[in-house]
Amino acid sequence: MLVVMNANATQAQVEAVADKIRQLGYAPHVIPGGLRTAIGITGNRGPEGRDALLIMPGVEDVVRVTVGYKLVSRETHTEPSVYPIAGTRIGKGFTMIAGPCSVENEKMMLEAAEFLTAQGVKLMRAGAYKPRTSPYAFQGLGTEGLRILAKAKQETGIGIVTEVLDVENAARVEEVTDVLQVGTRNMQNYPLLRRLSSAKKPVLLKRGMAATVDEWLLAAEYILSGGNRQVILCERGVRTFADHTRNTLDLSIIPVVKHLSHLPVLIDPSHGTGRSEYVPAMSRAALAAGADGLLVEVHPDPPNALSDGQQSLDFDTFKQMQASLRPLADVLKVELQ
Ligand code: PEP
Ligand code: MN
Repeated sequence: MLVVMNANATQAQVEAVADKIRQLGYAPHVIPGGLRTAIGITGNRGPEGRDALLIMPGVEDVVRVTVGYKLVSRETHTEPSVYPIAGTRIGKGFTMIAGPCSVENEKMMLEAAEFLTAQGVKLMRAGAYKPRTSPYAFQGLGTEGLRILAKAKQETGIGIVTEVLDVENAARVEEVTDVLQVGTRNMQNYPLLRRLSSAKKPVLLKRGMAATVDEWLLAAEYILSGGNRQVILCERGVRTFADHTRNTLDLSIIPVVKHLSHLPVLIDPSHGTGRSEYVPAMSRAALAAGADGLLVEVHPDPPNALSDGQQSLDFDTFKQMQASLRPLADVLKVELQ
């Protein structure tokens, strides 16, 4: 259920309704809105308690929410969510997040951070902990990688997006990063999602490589229901029979997510295609389809990258891609950031 307060309901009335919800044995989730406040209710199985809430001062209506992902749903939060992060506003405009797949060493990360900052990019991606298919592949530098990311941020001011692989390292990663990335393989790692629900940093939740939209949005609901309201969704391609690309980048998910949810949705055309030559076209398509931004792999020397070199743009190609996005953004009246 969802309690919709009157446009002029007072703070005290909102608190009284939240208390009543607790008395009923449920959990209230206050959702402030531009026009009015709503209070999502979780823990209930049906409309029990609806009448008691309806008669409370300041209450406009108590409606049933028809989907399982209540806090993620547009039914409970009609306006798009916007998060100010490192000088960008994710959810408003088109935000570029770029950087190498992995943190490899200090020199290349500083080079990448300086290049991206000069291009106006405000958030840099790079993994210190890498979930690799093979146990023999480069697994990331771990804590040394985090130190390098902190240094790149300190020297250039660029914000950091890096992956958190497990509950054990969550606090350490949270200390350094501006956005906690959850990879495709961990989308349904519920202990990790629960842990991040109490994190103070936004979470970038990649779609599982075989996840339906319901499974994805319910994974996001784990994070919101624990109190962390800042979740950014990221489509990175799913498994299909098609083998001309590494994954099948499901751009149709953009309007679907926009219809069902208020959460921002980014596109990762690098993992979505697996080939750097296809990345610019899919980036422009993502912008045209209404995505809130991109997560793109960019490397100073792709042929010698320790992971995902084949799908990483070099600096020149990245510049060309940015230049090709600008006129499109102008036509669409979307601000590139
Ligand atoms: C990554 O972003 O480098 C990564 C490992 O992504 P995914 O979880 O989508 O495979
Ligand atoms: Mn990668």
